[in-house]
Amino acid sequence: KLFNEVQELRGNIRVYCRVRPFLPGQDKQSTTIDYIGESGELLISNPLKQGKDGQRMFKFNKVFSSFASQADVFSDTQPLIRSVLDGFNVCIFAYGQTGSGKTYTMSGPSTSKKDWGVNYRALNDLFDISLNRRNIFSYEVGVQMVEIYNEQANRAVGATALNERSSRSHSILTVHVRGVDVKTGSISRGCLHLVDLAGSERVERSEATGDRLKEAQHINKSLSALGDVIFALAQKNAHVPYRNSKLTQVLQSSLGGQAKTLMFVQINPDVESYSETISTLKFAERVS
Ligand code: ADP
Ligand code: MG
Repeated sequence: KLFNEVQELRGNIRVYCRVRPFLPGQDKQSTTIDYIGESGELLISNPLKQGKDGQRMFKFNKVFSSFASQADVFSDTQPLIRSVLDGFNVCIFAYGQTGSGKTYTMSGPSTSKKDWGVNYRALNDLFDISLNRRNIFSYEVGVQMVEIYNEQANRAVGATALNERSSRSHSILTVHVRGVDVKTGSISRGCLHLVDLAGSERVERSEATGDRLKEAQHINKSLSALGDVIFALAQKNAHVPYRNSKLTQVLQSSLGGQAKTLMFVQINPDVESYSETISTLKFAERVS
């Protein structure tokens, strides 16, 4: 049954868009979201422009409105997580400008159960299922957290350091699962990467200097390398350019082949974010 659920996901790459709600104090009239369709349609417009000029339609596997709960989002993610126990490699990314809800989706705003993001729910699910299957499989689960900052490191970091520059680094929670069939002794291995990407906002050359400019260039480089890799995989190109960034090198074994990829594309609904929203959605459109 689990296997069938996974097979139903068309292809190996899915893109879900999630719209962040307005925060208290923000003007709800200034929304750029015109319409969200049941089958993944998203119509965006600029309320400051009259007429249809500023309108653009996008299509993804699914669009979650600002009313979607953490549980709603996870219910469409769960089959992918479960496939890790059957030996699949899975990568789940959150992409979007700083403040668009990447960390909300991946980690959640608090550790209370209803707030849990994909990370907590995924681990909880993996432990639950392995417990249920304990008479058939014996599972070992290993968890590792790494940060990629300025194309370096791939090293464990403290929680404080991670918070301070979370918008300028990629953080990757990796879950390794090794299952042994109790009867036959045969072994399956699956790996799940949960990635909260650095903010995708473009930094004007004129605004940034020194370290800030360097950071921005590294983020640009790695996000476009990621886009190129997923694009090449979606096109089934023979050459996949994994070597162009640390991020894609680290994730190489879980991108492509039998591996499954899910990209959460996070957007802000407010008009000030209009141009970032469009560039985020164009990135996503290219890889979907
Ligand atoms: P990012 O990680 O992309 O920089 P955050 O996840 O930190 O963005 O979200 C920015 C703010 O918006 C936070 O205050 C967060 O709690 C809030 N937020 C994001 N998504 C939602 C949501 N779906 N529902 C309610 N609040 C949200
Ligand atoms: Mg964040």
